[in-house]
Amino acid sequence: MRPRSILHVDMDAFYASVEQRDNPELRGKPLVVGGGDNRGVVAAASYESRRFGIRSAMPIAEARRRCPDLLRVAPRMSHYQSVSRQIFDVFREFSPLVEGLSLDEAFLDVSGSLKLFGNSKDIGRAIKARILEKTELTASVGVAENNLVAKIASDMDKPNGLVVITADDCQEKLDPLPVSVIPGIGRETLKKLHRANIRSVRDLRLATRRDIEPIFGRFTSKTLDRAAGIDDRPVISSRGEKSISAEETYERDLSDSKVMQRELLRLTERTCRRLRKAGLQAGTVQVKIRRADFSTFTRQKILRPPGNATDQIHAISCELLTSWLAEHPGSRIRLLGVGAARLTRSSQGDLFADSDAASAPVDKTVDQIRDRFGIAAVGRASTLSRPDTE
Ligand SMILES: [Mg+2]
Repeated sequence: MRPRSILHVDMDAFYASVEQRDNPELRGKPLVVGGGDNRGVVAAASYESRRFGIRSAMPIAEARRRCPDLLRVAPRMSHYQSVSRQIFDVFREFSPLVEGLSLDEAFLDVSGSLKLFGNSKDIGRAIKARILEKTELTASVGVAENNLVAKIASDMDKPNGLVVITADDCQEKLDPLPVSVIPGIGRETLKKLHRANIRSVRDLRLATRRDIEPIFGRFTSKTLDRAAGIDDRPVISSRGEKSISAEETYERDLSDSKVMQRELLRLTERTCRRLRKAGLQAGTVQVKIRRADFSTFTRQKILRPPGNATDQIHAISCELLTSWLAEHPGSRIRLLGVGAARLTRSSQGDLFADSDAASAPVDKTVDQIRDRFGIAAVGRASTLSRPDTE
């Protein structure tokens, strides 16, 4: 696989910086954005307040104890949203592949933009400059070959940082960092790691499976990959990929419902595989049907809870097709499609609480074999023959 160029852009103390920008009296002062005087928690802390150990998610009362002169302003979410739109517009000037993680944070895959804008570090620098010009706010940027390392890099020189980690110096730069930089390692997991004397990324990278299996269970391999800076999740455009689908136009029209169902299985496999690779779950399953006379129909069903298991989505698409056929008996079908929409992340922000949790073991096996040998290497028995080759 060709190396990718991934940027993680993260605005510095976003809400607090917006407030300080808009009100000169707040500049240079310890400030938090958050609700209610002694109730509520800190939503964002200015860098001046962080010197007192104040962090987001800390109770405001606790923050006040640490800094009696602390200033507080109530959040203005719709205002932050409009600033966020300006920032995301900047991102999209540089790449269509922008995956928003929150109002002030995104992954950008700029692999396709290098010819246009120079190397990935130049792009990072240009994005920072453009954001500053448009919003008078600073961002920190991490540049790497994957999401995981880019995200770690953006945090290494905050605020206003620009850190590049290449494949060559990845190990050297990650190794000395505290193991908590690996996304998904929460407080409880961290305690267990410390008890096992694993404190740095290096400690984790060099740990034996036996050491960490009791802590990470089925995420052990993934965790060891992360510690080695390996991450092949694609950047999913939060705009573009509102749905994932596969469809096929047939040389000869289909009229046998058994054959149609088998085709739906093939299409479902393609769609579900892409979902699983991207760590997404479908909230809606759609079937697209085009008849020989080119009239086109879609039928959909909500999937609750959302899922990405091939068997489940195939069963739903067959059900949708069967009820459509009942309404349109004797139809000759020119095209079939299976789509997944209302996509959600398999797990919000937690790498270890897993993208394959809901997948049947057979899906995982098929995915793994296909990753190694290509898409044609394995199919379920019922998809091995195709109508246009019969
Ligand atoms: Mg931020």
